Amino acid sequence: MTPSIAETMEYLRRSSPAQAEFYQAAEEVLGSLKSLLDREKRYEQHNIIHRIIEPERQIFFRVAWVDDRGCVQVNKGYRVEFNSALGPYKGGLRFHPNVTAGVVKFLGFEQIFKNALTGLQLGAAKGGANFDPKGKSDNEIMRFCQSFMNELFRHIGATIDVPAGDIGVSRREIGYLYGQYKRLTGRHEGTLTGKGLSWGGSRGRTEATGYGVVYFAENMLAERGETLAGKICTVSGAGKVSIYAVEKLYQMGAKPVTVSDSNGMIYDGRGIDLELLKRIKEVERGRLARYVEEHRGAVYTPVEDYPLGRNSVWSVPCQCAFPCATENELSDEDARTLLNGGCLCVCEGANMPSTQAAADAFLAAGIAYGPAKAANAGGVAASQLEMAQNASMLQWSFEEVDSRLKNIMQTIFRTASETAKEFGEPGNLVLGANIAGFRKVADAMIDQGVV
Ligand code: NDP
Repeated sequence: MTPSIAETMEYLRRSSPAQAEFYQAAEEVLGSLKSLLDREKRYEQHNIIHRIIEPERQIFFRVAWVDDRGCVQVNKGYRVEFNSALGPYKGGLRFHPNVTAGVVKFLGFEQIFKNALTGLQLGAAKGGANFDPKGKSDNEIMRFCQSFMNELFRHIGATIDVPAGDIGVSRREIGYLYGQYKRLTGRHEGTLTGKGLSWGGSRGRTEATGYGVVYFAENMLAERGETLAGKICTVSGAGKVSIYAVEKLYQMGAKPVTVSDSNGMIYDGRGIDLELLKRIKEVERGRLARYVEEHRGAVYTPVEDYPLGRNSVWSVPCQCAFPCATENELSDEDARTLLNGGCLCVCEGANMPSTQAAADAFLAAGIAYGPAKAANAGGVAASQLEMAQNASMLQWSFEEVDSRLKNIMQTIFRTASETAKEFGEPGNLVLGANIAGFRKVADAMIDQGVV
């Protein structure tokens, strides 16, 4: 680590205390930039590092709502508008009890480089609340979303800031949020993405992140003369990203054998039953444990039985692993287990799912390792396609969106791969993605002056 990066990290710890996830994300990006900063002095002259780690605006607000028993509940709401050098702020909303200012900042910071890598005109933001949608009635979800929007609407707009979904925010939540936005502003414009198809949504948006992760893996493997066909794959999570990663893996001829939720994991050696998974998670909004009621041959392992500090999904031998649940779900021990089991590709659907030590182990082993900010950028890319459709009041076919998504994922892979080569570390897509994303945003910031 160069002294200036060490000083920057020290400054972050002092000025933004208790934000461990944000420090982790910042250190990972800054650690990749040394050779670029040594080569291009203009970034230092314009103090870009200190400017880029500071969000342009942070909004923290109270979300008060009434539950079904008539009791008043209060949650914390957040929107961190991190960087608008490339376009309107763009990034999802997360509703999960673990959401804190540090989690939202880490996600918003990652979003800067991810959005830049798509090649689209997108700034970066992230938001959410420490609200747990699990176990809440539809009416409770609606009242919460309406209260959340009562503050958020002041800060967003189709060319200002365009939120989307993330953990705990799907089409249902986007619907309630959008309804309230429309009521408060009187505007029917594409201010949120992930909308329903009949009221401004884009075909292919639901599938985009999961499909995009698999397209990215296919690109990484192709460079090594391999394909996904016939590969045993492990997937964590059972949400929007995981379900459509499983679907695309089947279409590529691979065999996904695991999925998980926060209560436990399913191993199904015959391959995950996608139809049943969708029914349990999308229709019933149920728990994965139910999977074994219909598939007695599958194995359900509850989290209580996971080895200490480990995620059982990663103990299943596989050739390709797709962490698609949440941050830091794959530890260095998990990484060693995967590598010892012959894993040759790890492609991240979740944001920062591998700890720094796990990521270092993958890079040292020289396997195909697709870091989240490159591999899961398909979601935000398809959101931009939704914005483009809203702006022109047109709706494209699924095939049109999917084909654009496929091209975007290929371009992101090539950009990260070629940048890694340019800086003397071929195959290091972490370095390639960080430098390529940073360079694009930093150059735009320099062009636009000190603002
Ligand atoms: P969902 O809420 O649809 O699904 C999340 C899945 O991960 C659920 O199965 C959930 O289990 C599990 N999970 C969440 N938190 C934890 C935890 N702390 N421990 C164990 N399991 C957990 O979210 P998405 O699929 O949309 O998002 C998953 C990841 O992908 C996140 O990191 C998100 O930031 C990232 N991502 C999502 C994009 C999108 O377009 N949706 C775009 C880019 C990145 P349970 O139901 O039990 O909570």
